[in-house]
Amino acid sequence: MRKAERATLLLERLDEFYPNPPIPLDHQDEFTLLVAVLLSAQCTDKKVNEITPALFEVAGTPLRMQALGEDGILQIIRPLGLSKQKAKALAGLSKILVDQHDSQVPRSFEELEALPGVGHKTASVVMSQAFDVPAFPVDTHIHRLAQRWGLSSGKSVVQTENDLKKLFPESSWNRLHLQIIFYGREHCTARGCDGTRCGLCQELYPKRRKAVVWKKP
Ligand code: SF4
Repeated sequence: MRKAERATLLLERLDEFYPNPPIPLDHQDEFTLLVAVLLSAQCTDKKVNEITPALFEVAGTPLRMQALGEDGILQIIRPLGLSKQKAKALAGLSKILVDQHDSQVPRSFEELEALPGVGHKTASVVMSQAFDVPAFPVDTHIHRLAQRWGLSSGKSVVQTENDLKKLFPESSWNRLHLQIIFYGREHCTARGCDGTRCGLCQELYPKRRKAVVWKKP
């Protein structure tokens, strides 16, 4: 099966498995989504969702986050990894939103990526999930599955993003990135697989008889 055929099959199957994939990070609006995505770096979404209700209770807007300040933010988010860096980034980011963006989350990659603690992946999640602008944020699950499904060489997340954007129609990106994440979490985990365990790979690679050893987990 050619790469484009695998992509078409995956779109069909993932739409069947996850017809309406929910946004995994709990939030109330664009700002709280941006905060939750920033906090999710090197953390599980579950852990972030345990922490954010307390944070949003006192700092659900840029102005209130700025008023809480770096130390106050740190007190609440301390159970998360990289909490010091994240508290500093949230305080700085909130000040910039208040001072330069009328307390609104900007709606462009360029302005988002200029904020402290916001890289291309975080900006892509916000553009996609908050503003419904087509984007393909590549996290560790998508990076791994794109390689296992023969959609990308998996050399870097940048390469994976470019490869996936070329393969799939733009109209599918916003739901597809979530569908791949859910499949990766539930079935195709980082713990390893020899490529013969589930029906999806059997459909994608009907002639596969031997176990596959991946270059990367
Ligand atoms: S067979 Fe393994 S590698 Fe292929 S989709 Fe299933 S879990 Fe992932």
